[in-house]
Amino acid sequence: MAFKPANNIQDLQYFGEFGGVNPSISDSSTYTFLSAKTMFDTFEGNADGCYLYSRHSSPSNLYLGEALAALEGTETANVTASGMGAICPVLLQLCGQGDHIVSSRTIYGGTYAFLKNFTPRMGISTSFVDITKLDLVEAAITENTKVLYCEAVSNPLLEVADIAALSQLAKKHGLKLVVDNTFSPLSIPAGRLGADVIIHSLTKFINGSSDTVGGVICGTQEFIDQLRNVNDGAAMLLGSTMDSMRAASILKNLRTLHIRMKQHSHNAFYLAQAFESLGLKTVYPGLPSHPSHKVFSQMMNAEYGFGGMLTVDVGSLDKANELMELMQERNLGYLAVSLGFYKTLFSAPGSSTSSEIPADEQEAMGLSDGLIRFSVGLDNDIARTFKQMKACMEAVGVLQTAELV
Ligand code: PLP
Repeated sequence: MAFKPANNIQDLQYFGEFGGVNPSISDSSTYTFLSAKTMFDTFEGNADGCYLYSRHSSPSNLYLGEALAALEGTETANVTASGMGAICPVLLQLCGQGDHIVSSRTIYGGTYAFLKNFTPRMGISTSFVDITKLDLVEAAITENTKVLYCEAVSNPLLEVADIAALSQLAKKHGLKLVVDNTFSPLSIPAGRLGADVIIHSLTKFINGSSDTVGGVICGTQEFIDQLRNVNDGAAMLLGSTMDSMRAASILKNLRTLHIRMKQHSHNAFYLAQAFESLGLKTVYPGLPSHPSHKVFSQMMNAEYGFGGMLTVDVGSLDKANELMELMQERNLGYLAVSLGFYKTLFSAPGSSTSSEIPADEQEAMGLSDGLIRFSVGLDNDIARTFKQMKACMEAVGVLQTAELV
């Protein structure tokens, strides 16, 4: 039967303690016990339904976690204070001194910096590879490799990982496949395709209102229990816990994710086609010109489209800056990092969200100075938006000077 993530989320019912249509917010950091024995059992992880301390778990966090597990089709999930607060504990739980990670080379700059600069301090090394070349991925695996890491759709280059094929590779070599699915919630069912652990930065599309940071780790009950273990669980001990108030507000926003994703995808597809037809070098997984268009099409939940992210290369950082400033002045979006907002957001990743990646490596992976990353908003009239963007491009001379396809 087809996997219907939005149905799965909607089928979960929660009520508040007075019959409220939203669950009550658990506004407590600690919980009382009627008996000391139950407190001890809870510490040991043996008292189902009891809460101990909110860094460990809280009712509000568990509600949101269940809904996100339903999104990915995993047994359960653990919500965290940010996307990085999900990524770092997962990798530190799975790897220790002497272990090795094979990672996609095009990933969010913060994750790249963590793997390149931080984890070596703990004796964990990483090989960065082109994740779309399975032979290169396999060649990088050593006897110490524990994890295969990638983003389903990569930030910022929008490379697409073939999750089913990577999962087979991971199984063959006894590795865990960890997938960051931040760019493609609902569209790419990473859990269904064989990822062992799926991470989202909730800060982006899932929350969708750019008012909070948050993250989630979706996986098996066994793995999530390990992360929450009071003695050696990385989520528990590193302390990247989400606040209950935030969990409650993100759960409410999650209710509209399916509608928002359809509109983000619709608008991004429209703009991508229109930009490409102007001769601009445009990257969008929904365009047949995208090298992984077929792979995405085979994996996707078609009703949610190819997502809200696209890139355009306007030739130079100066031109990119000029264009973004003018588009902002004309109220077509904001010159801002992050993604998944109702308003279009644009930034030049080479000098912002991917600036942790050294210039020579940016060049090797095709991250050019003039690249603008668009997180396309929920505009009601995208044809009007396009006309106004085109006028901005003409005004700054991008349509004459852009590198033509
Ligand atoms: N993963 C991806 C793909 C991202 O783009 C980001 C942030 O931009 C993160 C993870 C980190 O998320 P957060 O900022 O919520 O820590």
